[in-house]
Amino acid sequence: MKGLSLCIDIDGTITEAYDWILRANAYFNKKITPEDVKVYDMHKALGVESDAYDKFYNLYGELIHEEARIRRDVKEVLDKLYERHEIHFVTAREGKMKDVTKRWLFQHGIPIDTLSLLGTHDKVSKAQELDCDIFIEDRYENAIQLASYGFQVLLIDCYYNQGPLEKGITRVNNWQEIKAFIEKYAQKTYHYSKIAT
Ligand SMILES: [Mg+2]
Repeated sequence: MKGLSLCIDIDGTITEAYDWILRANAYFNKKITPEDVKVYDMHKALGVESDAYDKFYNLYGELIHEEARIRRDVKEVLDKLYERHEIHFVTAREGKMKDVTKRWLFQHGIPIDTLSLLGTHDKVSKAQELDCDIFIEDRYENAIQLASYGFQVLLIDCYYNQGPLEKGITRVNNWQEIKAFIEKYAQKTYHYSKIAT
């Protein structure tokens, strides 16, 4: 049985989605809470200019990535999925975050086939290159774009990704739901491939 090609985003998908708020609040002297983060763009959630946010990210981005907490059950689920499937991390983080990203994945014992730091939110060509079967994301706009190219997307539920879903996108609440979906999907795919041959 050929395994599935699983493409997985990092920030907010395998990491906790709101940990950056603590440092951003301190830096900008704000008091926003996770519920206030209704849009993906953090500067908008904070009510600051994007340049100001970029400056903050240049100063603290690496530290924020370093200390990001892992979401519940991620390691256990990925260890299990890795027995049969490929695991490709595809992040919009820039290349300069490669070391901290690799270190974090290693420290958390995350199984991995490849890591791509795109420096852009456009993940379609990478998904095509990796022959992606399922893409796991937290950014609404990415989910819509990937689905429009025919990819199956699992969108992990966050305050900032509410919105109508299109065909091919499934909203999930946690990594146990992700595991259940993928195992069922793999079984179905296997079943169909048996019929085809
Ligand atoms: Mg993300």
